[in-house]
Amino acid sequence: MKIAVFPGSFDPITIGHVDLVKRALPLFDKIVVAVGVNSIKKNLFSLDQRLEWLRQVFAEYPSVEVDYFENLTADYCKRIGARYLLRGLRNASDFDYEKTISQLNHIIGDGIETVFLISQPEYSHISSTIVREIIVGGADAAQFIPKEIQISTKG
Ligand code: ADP
Repeated sequence: MKIAVFPGSFDPITIGHVDLVKRALPLFDKIVVAVGVNSIKKNLFSLDQRLEWLRQVFAEYPSVEVDYFENLTADYCKRIGARYLLRGLRNASDFDYEKTISQLNHIIGDGIETVFLISQPEYSHISSTIVREIIVGGADAAQFIPKEIQISTKG
């Protein structure tokens, strides 16, 4: 059984994340979209809120599961028997960052392979960071987030 973990903050999930998961469906038997709980990173949305949105968005996908983990991604993968990580590449800075992490996970995760999908051009400008800025700025980010979820703008 080929299990991939798609780790991220998903603060919040965007249509870029969803596109990546959809494109990866034929590659794996199961994809676990897992929120990495990082105590240092300051999030806009609570873990419960992020998990709820992920569950709503992937409700119709039987091979997609939603979960969260603390500490190392590689340890989480070992615990659930996942040999693959899924990540997206939007640009060169994503590549520089991801390269090191992928090499590290390969070592500490006993050979875990990271599978990278290059973002489709229409999604490569979308990031959770941009979406958060739009929301905090009081504007409407609906075009960047899946239609299943409603985020009220904060004044
Ligand atoms: P992290 O905090 O780990 O960067 P994110 O939730 O921001 O988590 O992103 C998780 C993964 O989704 C990363 O591999 C990132 O490259 C990928 N990703 C984010 N936005 C997009 C997008 N628009 N297109 C393709 N991949 C994306």
